[in-house]
Amino acid sequence: MGINLNLEEFNKLRDEVQICNACELFMTRKNVVFGDGNPHAKILLIGEAPGECEDNTGLPFVGRGGKLLTEMLKEIGLKREEDYYIINMLKCRPPQNRDPHPAEMKACSKYLQKQIELINPEIIVCVGRIAAMQLIKSDFKVTKEHGEFFEKDGRLYMGTFHPAAILRNMTQKPFAMEDLKKLKEYINTHK
Ligand code: URA
Repeated sequence: MGINLNLEEFNKLRDEVQICNACELFMTRKNVVFGDGNPHAKILLIGEAPGECEDNTGLPFVGRGGKLLTEMLKEIGLKREEDYYIINMLKCRPPQNRDPHPAEMKACSKYLQKQIELINPEIIVCVGRIAAMQLIKSDFKVTKEHGEFFEKDGRLYMGTFHPAAILRNMTQKPFAMEDLKKLKEYINTHK
């Protein structure tokens, strides 16, 4: 897994996504947000959709919430440039950060599936309820099921709190830290 990434295919996909016009979000985006980090890593984190900072920079999870998540991962020894790759289900920002429309999710899902297939991570962390409901199960309850491992299609998945939710309610932070520690523990024991 992970280590066999076909970089040529991966870069081809990145180029394809850069010029995508499969849904109406291409009209309002400033930048496509493909992903960031080490695509050879065993961990893939998946959020919902880019926000304003991400749209401005073309990088995922770089706003206030993104910085918090990056710091929390660093606290347990996981660095973006080495230990994980991070993406969103949607590659373009919905205007005013509105919820993605089903047609947008559908249009973008082929890119998401291709990223998962090429990166071939050992474990996928769904960042927030929306990603967990899409990728783990439609009735995923983040307050009850965060930090649990789910096996699906021969891969491990975990859902945890979205950093934007943590910023609104800091009492969730220790629970999210526990989830990330479980992730680290898994990686340490499956080298
Ligand atoms: N929220 C997300 O889900 N993704 C980002 O990239 C930024 C904020």
